[in-house]
Amino acid sequence: MIEFLLGSILSGGLSWAITHLYHVKSNKEQRKHYEELKKFISKLPEDFKKIVLEDKRDTLTVPELNDLLKKKTIDDSIPGEIKYKACPECGSENLVWDENFDTIVDVDVSDGEPFFSGTPVPGRVCRDCGWGVPGMKNHK
Ligand SMILES: [Zn+2]
Repeated sequence: MIEFLLGSILSGGLSWAITHLYHVKSNKEQRKHYEELKKFISKLPEDFKKIVLEDKRDTLTVPELNDLLKKKTIDDSIPGEIKYKACPECGSENLVWDENFDTIVDVDVSDGEPFFSGTPVPGRVCRDCGWGVPGMKNHK
C-alpha cells in the first residue's frame, strides 16, 4: 500500500515536473520568438508594415507579398515601358524623366581614325536617392 502511494506521488511529481519544465521551456521559446519578431518588425519600413496590415488575407505567400510590394511601386495603367510610380529603392514618389539618363557611344572607324558619337538615352530617375532605369516615356 505504501509502495503504491509512494509510486503515485513519485509519478505524479514526475509528471508535474515534466509539465512544469515543458511550460518553462515553451515560455522561454515564446519569449525568444517574440523578441525575434519584435526585432524583425522594427527593421521594416513603415510603408511596408502599412501595406501588409491593410491586406485582408490572414497569410501571405512570398509571391503574394512581392505582388503587394510591386503594386506600391508599379502602376500598370501608366502608358509606356516604364511604369514606376514610386522608387523601388527608397519608396519616394519624386520620380522624374531624364532625357539624358545615359549615353550610347557609337564608334565609327571607317576613316581609319575612331570617331566617337553619343546618343542620349532617356530614363526615369528618383530625385531623392538617384536610382534610375533607362526607358522612354510613353514608348510602346
Ligand atoms: Zn529613390
